[in-house]
Amino acid sequence: MTLPATTLRFMTRFRCIAERCEDTCCGGLRVGVSEASVQRIHETLRAAGKPEPTEGISIPFPEGAPSERTLLRMRSDGHCVFLDTERRCSLHREHGEAVLPDVCATFPRTLWVQEGRLEVSGSLACPEAVRLLLLAEDAVEQVPVPPGLVARPEAARPAPGLPGDLYVLHAGAVRDALREFLLPGGHPLSSRLSALARWALRMDGLFRGPSPLPEDEEETRALLRAELQGVGAFVALAQAPPEPLGPWEEGGARVLRLLTQLKHLSGVTRSERFARFVQGCRSVLGVTGEEGQEGSNVWRLYTTRRAGLDARHGARLEQYFRHYLENYLLRHPHTEAFGLLAYVHRLTVRLALLRLTLAAHPGVSAECTQETLDQTAVECFQLLSRNVDLAPDFLALPREGAGGDRARCLEETLAWARFS
Ligand code: SF4
Repeated sequence: MTLPATTLRFMTRFRCIAERCEDTCCGGLRVGVSEASVQRIHETLRAAGKPEPTEGISIPFPEGAPSERTLLRMRSDGHCVFLDTERRCSLHREHGEAVLPDVCATFPRTLWVQEGRLEVSGSLACPEAVRLLLLAEDAVEQVPVPPGLVARPEAARPAPGLPGDLYVLHAGAVRDALREFLLPGGHPLSSRLSALARWALRMDGLFRGPSPLPEDEEETRALLRAELQGVGAFVALAQAPPEPLGPWEEGGARVLRLLTQLKHLSGVTRSERFARFVQGCRSVLGVTGEEGQEGSNVWRLYTTRRAGLDARHGARLEQYFRHYLENYLLRHPHTEAFGLLAYVHRLTVRLALLRLTLAAHPGVSAECTQETLDQTAVECFQLLSRNVDLAPDFLALPREGAGGDRARCLEETLAWARFS
């Protein structure tokens, strides 16, 4: 039976730009595939009388999900062993799409089955997907998936989460609540994130907390439904004006922390583009890398640049972030995290990184044109999506999980929300 399928308009416009792409599909990524896919590649090469790459084509990855127990082997430059000198996939070119593992055949499309529907979103590791998402005004209209858009709909996985978990059973209603917090315009994103974090803390206290839930399943569901109906009161908190960025004591230290983590990450991911990007942002804000550098000047520079951009390009910036969030809610189901606050925290740190690097990028200034800003935004959103998604610890809450100190987790999330 074919499932009803929806996507966002920008994905219907997606066409791979191949050799004109500023990146590659595989560069720096960890590509998990099934053992059957690896077997199919071996057999195809053997049947065609083609030698296998000398370094081999895969390595075991027992800790991966069942469909990803093997990783495609990457060369020392961080690219797949099948990427040719023209930066194209030699497997695809010589043997056709059928031999590709699911993840390669569907990239940059992400496929989840949620509540009986196939949902197609975009991986922002692909620069062309980012361009289409951020820059077109109608990019995030929900539309049916046109025929032929998805090469292998059968590769769609059920959204993450344990069967029977309340957040999974009511995934649609919880996501509607997330949308209600995050998407309406009119209030600054920082206020909306703060209100959402407070609501998430309350929800986790009830449904992930130490006190037992009612034994009766129907009673528990009713409790969740009542909480979801009470979202409006929390959304009203989003109307509070954001706390001013200017005199914020912690600001400089947090900028230094993010830029230090990015530098460390750029040493791990082996992407020259990412390393240049991180170095550029650090230089603009005067980050020296010396132990104990005072953050106040760094903070002053950041807030000045940020205010200049907001004053000239506020509406355009708002469009980038709204479109990013629309895609994010489809691509990253909330059930991928242990609790809602952990989910909101990850999103909030991602948004803080985007805000920070957009303002600190050497290519932009208060006087720059919209075209320049667009190019810079595509680079920031793509490079951060590709590289930071590989480093889940970067985004994790302090002691994330059931035993985490909830008040401290909320404090951390509220602090990162101020960047938005
Ligand atoms: S990253 Fe996107 S545009 Fe670039 S080669 Fe891959 S699919 Fe094509």
